[in-house]
Amino acid sequence: MQYRILGRTGLRVSVVGFGGIPIMRISESESAVVINRALELGINFFDTARAYTDSEAKLGAVLGKRRDQVIIATKTMSRTAEGMAADIKKSLETMALDYIDLYQLHNLKDRDEFIQAFGPGGALEALKQAQKAGLVRHIGITGHIRSFLVEALKTGVMETVQFPFNAVEAAGADELLDLAAATGTGVIVMKPLAGGSIRDTGPALRFILEHPVSTVIPGMDAPGQVDQNAAVGADLRPLTDTERKSLEEMAAKLGTTFCRRCEYCQPCPQGVDIASVFLLDGYFTRYELQDWARERYQGMKVTAQECVECGECEEKCPYNLPIRAMLAEAKTRLG
Ligand code: SF4
Ligand code: SF4
Repeated sequence: MQYRILGRTGLRVSVVGFGGIPIMRISESESAVVINRALELGINFFDTARAYTDSEAKLGAVLGKRRDQVIIATKTMSRTAEGMAADIKKSLETMALDYIDLYQLHNLKDRDEFIQAFGPGGALEALKQAQKAGLVRHIGITGHIRSFLVEALKTGVMETVQFPFNAVEAAGADELLDLAAATGTGVIVMKPLAGGSIRDTGPALRFILEHPVSTVIPGMDAPGQVDQNAAVGADLRPLTDTERKSLEEMAAKLGTTFCRRCEYCQPCPQGVDIASVFLLDGYFTRYELQDWARERYQGMKVTAQECVECGECEEKCPYNLPIRAMLAEAKTRLG
């Protein structure tokens, strides 16, 4: 496994880190197998969140025993000092740790949240206090809207930034990447496969790591996935012309109106699993898996048929996707 320095935190992180969302779906013992496999293969950066149900607990149970060999990052969507302080305490308790290496403001979405988190009585105050008290070693920010992340980095307080960046969402990332480099901010890349839109893991991760980023954190919930991802970090090599061309073709095909599976639109009051519908629709339209996708879709407990077009999901989607119209199209193809 290769390692890079995470900006001015000075932490030495594996170029392939561990995204903590998918372990929510598996049992504690299965998670332990996956996490231990990652450790065996040299992965030392683990990212989770208060919002990822039992992910913190599952990671803490394994990583606590290897505390000096791992770098643990978590995050919360609390924007007030009070909420942030309470969540830092909860994270420490849940993971049974004395300190957390990196605590991040999770998914900063709009100007109001920015003003609240960075203003008087905001989350940043509690983060700084926790840092002074030694409960949190470093402070970072995560989000999907690059303009707010740029503003956050300009404050000079954030030591890391985490955002989606991949072969199909590369356009416009230069400003943020350049600013991160200029300010010594460590770059953590999430959603390396564009929410499942890219299937070729190796070239997708290597594309990202050709840029000035410290670590890329694909989610993993099976030992085989860990092997596949870690192998990329162990054998980093430039993309071949064919691989680059294939990623470019994929990007052109997807355009910008596609679901990144961030799930911020959930929950839908009708119970529609929006991201899964779009994933199956992607398999239908992009991968020529029509029968397979139809069968899976028709086996869903709640299909897009149940959408009553209330629009709640669209207000929450950071990519402003026309979800209702997209669901209607998917329904026609898959139903
Ligand atoms: S518009 Fe449809 S999918 Fe979106 S929240 Fe409303 S019912 Fe759910
Ligand atoms: S529809 Fe939007 S909010 Fe929902 S998962 Fe996809 S990208 Fe995320």
